[in-house]
Amino acid sequence: MIKVVFLGPPGAGKGTQAVRIAEKYNVPHISTGDILRAAVKEGTELGQLAKSYMDRGELVPDEVIIGIIRERLSQPDIRERGFILDGFPRTLKQAEALDQLLSELNMPLDRVIYLNVDDEEIVKRLLARGRADDTEEVIRNRLKVYREQTAPLIDYYAEKCLLAEIYGVGEIDEITKKIEEALGLGE
Ligand code: ADP
Repeated sequence: MIKVVFLGPPGAGKGTQAVRIAEKYNVPHISTGDILRAAVKEGTELGQLAKSYMDRGELVPDEVIIGIIRERLSQPDIRERGFILDGFPRTLKQAEALDQLLSELNMPLDRVIYLNVDDEEIVKRLLARGRADDTEEVIRNRLKVYREQTAPLIDYYAEKCLLAEIYGVGEIDEITKKIEEALGLGE
């Protein structure tokens, strides 16, 4: 059972690393970005709402995201296998809601993996990725939103003694190894 949050700026490699750990250890991977992009693609009501925020690099309102996570975390695979949260929480309000949800479920977090990457490298990576919301202007706004709303979670989790900081530049395999070490998953 693994119960972990992946934290870090856009383009830090949270998704890449989360998928690797999820597959290797058979843990459900919950990416709010993936959930929202799927909704946009399907053209659901959630998708239409989310798109207006994502296109500008803004955060989707807390209540909406918290509702999605509440529903997902209540499914039976989570109780059996745990979870890797990728892209949630992104605000203090979301972090507090997560604490509340996990205490209701009686499933405390094991660790928060903070993937740290320099700003220059982030912009380079996102421009190369070329997703719909990866234009220079939108990237700049996502970084600003990250600094203002998400970066405070680093201290929030450090104070709870849950934070493991990992430098996210280098070989993908090496970074995966460091994450496994931080989670106490040895070879
Ligand atoms: P990145 O790869 O840049 O970290 P994500 O795929 O995680 O991006 O998210 C893309 C967009 O989806 C965000 O810019 C935001 O608009 C929206 N989003 C994803 N997760 C959340 C969340 N927890 N709260 C609010 N908005 C979110």
